[in-house]
Amino acid sequence: LRRAAHARRHEEARTRDGHRVEIAANLGNTAHAADAVERGAEGIGLLRTEFVFMEHSEAPDLATQIAEYGEAFDALAGRPLVARTLDVGGDKPLSYWPMPHEENPFLGVRGIRLTLMRPEVLETQLRALLMAAGRRPVRIMFPMIKDIEEFRAGKAIFDRVQAEVKAADVQLGVMIEVPSCALLAPTLAKEADFFSIGTNDLTQYTLAIDRGHPQLSAQSDAMHPAVLRLIQLTVEAAHAEGRWVGVCGELGSDPQAIPVLVGLGVDELSVSSRRVPLVKAAVRELTLPRARELAGLALRQPTAAAVREALEAV
Ligand code: PEP
Ligand code: MG
Repeated sequence: LRRAAHARRHEEARTRDGHRVEIAANLGNTAHAADAVERGAEGIGLLRTEFVFMEHSEAPDLATQIAEYGEAFDALAGRPLVARTLDVGGDKPLSYWPMPHEENPFLGVRGIRLTLMRPEVLETQLRALLMAAGRRPVRIMFPMIKDIEEFRAGKAIFDRVQAEVKAADVQLGVMIEVPSCALLAPTLAKEADFFSIGTNDLTQYTLAIDRGHPQLSAQSDAMHPAVLRLIQLTVEAAHAEGRWVGVCGELGSDPQAIPVLVGLGVDELSVSSRRVPLVKAAVRELTLPRARELAGLALRQPTAAAVREALEAV
């Protein structure tokens, strides 16, 4: 299977009845972009840009960021790049950016909340992404958005930058990682160009279980029907407005989850590079009606364990 998947890694992933699902790669460093393409990724579905900020002892300037992002655009040769703006705070501190101690850092100043407090950092990053992209497709998304207000605040900065730096092919999207955002997806879909579901954080905030908790990790399963229902709401809201939806959390490469996500209508799966060939192979085994049946079956279950058992049984 591995061999066969590898041989077809550069082909699109279509179900047996012709439904296409884009398979992209999650990257934590632009230096790995060429490898992702070699493994069959159709683009970068999540560039975790934190590395640019963490590998320097001070905030990276415009030129440094343009060079870093430019490396990925060059390797992608016209394939789309989805960049997430800086997502620090919480569990991810920055040495040169002191943050006050918080009792509950996962519920504190992190993600978009933090960069909105330092708009010049967000502005420089957006400018660098647009300048590095030039005529190549770039999609930019904000992390940890909770509602339209935060999206509009980020978009106002983006619009200002875009008025000066005209990138040819750009979309602005929202990461769906906070349950409020999935519930309010219909309002967000009117103004955002796309959604990318971060199932790692979405699961953490839906189940109220720290995603890295040593004792609770077994219970923190993104296959939980509550999480699946939030994904369903998100996809329905997006498609009603003609927007596309990706999944960039770990769930996207879970073999049991792939049919369910395809059945829920997810348009793109972004997974770690080495899993790209196998995820494509898994999509090719499906038909859309069957995937929809499995999604329905999963949604009707009461617990994550029941979802997995029910899928296993069929
Ligand atoms: C997620 O939360 O699912 C996600 C993709 O972002 P990260 O894992 O970087 O928090
Ligand atoms: Mg996240």
